[in-house]
Amino acid sequence: MRRSQFYIPTRREVAAQDSINAYLLTKAGYISQIAAGAYALLPLAVRSLHKIEQIIREEMDAIGGSEVVFTALQPQETWEKSGRWDDPNFRQIVYRDEEAGMTFGATHEEPMAIIVKEKVQSYRELPVILYQFQTKFRKELRAKSGLLRGREFRMKDLYSFHATEKEHQAFYEKCAAAYGRVFTRLGLNAYRVKASGGVFSTEFSDEFQVPCPTGEDEVWLDHTEMTGFNTEVEESMTNEQKKSHERVRSVEVGNIFHLGTKYPDAFDFKYLDADGARKSIYMGSYGIGITRLLGVLAELNNDEHGLRLPAVIAPFQCVVIDLTGEGVTGQKLYAELTAAGIETLYDDRDEPAGSKFADADLVGFPVRLVYSQKTAQEGKVELKIRGAAAVDDVELIPVEEVADRISKILATP
Ligand code: ATP
Ligand code: MG
Repeated sequence: MRRSQFYIPTRREVAAQDSINAYLLTKAGYISQIAAGAYALLPLAVRSLHKIEQIIREEMDAIGGSEVVFTALQPQETWEKSGRWDDPNFRQIVYRDEEAGMTFGATHEEPMAIIVKEKVQSYRELPVILYQFQTKFRKELRAKSGLLRGREFRMKDLYSFHATEKEHQAFYEKCAAAYGRVFTRLGLNAYRVKASGGVFSTEFSDEFQVPCPTGEDEVWLDHTEMTGFNTEVEESMTNEQKKSHERVRSVEVGNIFHLGTKYPDAFDFKYLDADGARKSIYMGSYGIGITRLLGVLAELNNDEHGLRLPAVIAPFQCVVIDLTGEGVTGQKLYAELTAAGIETLYDDRDEPAGSKFADADLVGFPVRLVYSQKTAQEGKVELKIRGAAAVDDVELIPVEEVADRISKILATP
């Protein structure tokens, strides 16, 4: 991609923001606020979010999920059937249009149960595991902290339908393990934390919490087991457990629930067992906050110059800056790296070197290449790895070795 053709509205000045992630992502041109809790996702954010989604997609497919895209719109009568239309807990958070008799996708248990019911009748057709990436709407009373708590946000939500509670339990554990892999791949330390079932379930649920000093949740963590308890259920902890756990602030990046047979039962969605008996279906729901993940990754990975997102989700892997004024080598490097599968942005703007460097640090390209009169004399390029301890920690590499060197850097987590 050429910088002159790719929309990156970096800003020199940004009005005060409610969080580090909102400040940096706005300044670096990833997002722009439309209203409290509603952000436009600009090209850099879209690239990063696609990468986050792809990692999740791979892990959800690996546990047997099939991807779908449901509508955000859901008819009132389906929420009446499940008892949620008039439930004060949901009334409070759900956008609805009384005139049209519609609610706007805060969560998707109802349509999932209804659609799966259309086909599934026998035990042979279970389990069914569907997931989607979707925009969700919630009337958050306290929309805040940039992408961490929006009124409109992206979520991966998965729903599973099983013949027995035991089968559901087995899948629940499989999904928890897949969540662990997702967060590790994203470079996050996520803990599996016991929490209340919230508005979804009377049982416990499991949250995936990432320690973060600016996080809104408080959790007790066991650093050896990578497990813990949300303070909302701390009365279920023993004194021993309190001693071996550390209390820290954190961000919930995922949440998984046992829903029992409530939603399938509400729609009279049952299955015929091998012995011909009509039985209830066990359902679970499993969420991951996609935009919240970008928010927490920005919150945790930055310095005074800008973002330092991990290379796996940074919008580009490398930026090429050619200061010679001719641009021949810059073009050539850009073409070569692109051919080698390295996602490269060629900064072809007619801008002073200083502002190109500042932009490169702000956006957070994992690798920055600079070709100048000085490096040209030796037939070399200056390579800087963003995130290296010292800002001037750079090396000079022969032009023909650059692609190999970057591929090696990117292959090392
Ligand atoms: P929270 O406890 O943070 O309010 P929740 O328990 O209501 O979230 P779920 O319904 O379980 O959230 O949604 C699944 C995931 O979606 C959450 O784990 C979180 O990562 C993300 N999420 C939930 N609400 C928001 C929001 N308002 N903005 C951004 N992400 C959110
Ligand atoms: Mg939750």
